[in-house]
Amino acid sequence: MSQKYMSFIFDDGPNALVYEMVDKISAYGWKAGFAIIGKKINDETQNQLRYAIDHGFQIVSHGWNHVNLCELNSKQEIVDEMLSPIVEVKRRLNYDIKMARLPFIAYNDLVMQTMAELKLPLLGHGINTDNEWSSETTPERIINAVLNSISDGAVACMHLLNNTSKALDVILPELKKQGYTLVTAEELFRIKNIENIPLGININNINQIL
Ligand SMILES: [Zn+2]
Repeated sequence: MSQKYMSFIFDDGPNALVYEMVDKISAYGWKAGFAIIGKKINDETQNQLRYAIDHGFQIVSHGWNHVNLCELNSKQEIVDEMLSPIVEVKRRLNYDIKMARLPFIAYNDLVMQTMAELKLPLLGHGINTDNEWSSETTPERIINAVLNSISDGAVACMHLLNNTSKALDVILPELKKQGYTLVTAEELFRIKNIENIPLGININNINQIL
């Protein structure tokens, strides 16, 4: 069985579920990432980010206010929205955020051009999670959708939510059985020997850019 890799990035934190998810994933010796909303960073949630970073997890910018960047009026507002979390995490934790996930994965030409100028690779949504962010869903639905759509090189968009954390209890052992390893997005690019990460596109699966 050949070794396969994926990267799960959990959005909309930080929140207290960071501890639980880091522990569940670390138990396999694996890593993942968190796409964080800048305005949620405070003295308490900073400790959650510290815990993630200390366990080798990756932090990604998900905007300061989690607004649809297409609805902003100027390029400067787009820049501020995506860079402010990076500045805040550097100031509080001395950690360098190097990638981003667009809020709602919403974009237009100006958003993509601006992200390329900022040299921020964009992590997309390469696994079907059956609207795992919705309050209507269940862990069972998430489990079925994820396990039916996993593939080597995929970057998953998931969320720091209870249902998602519960779903991991089934998803993680199944991934291990199928020969997968979860890594950070940075590690995924390294493993696949991608030195120049393409900019201005959402990367859903690393194999799309090889
Ligand atoms: Zn989000």
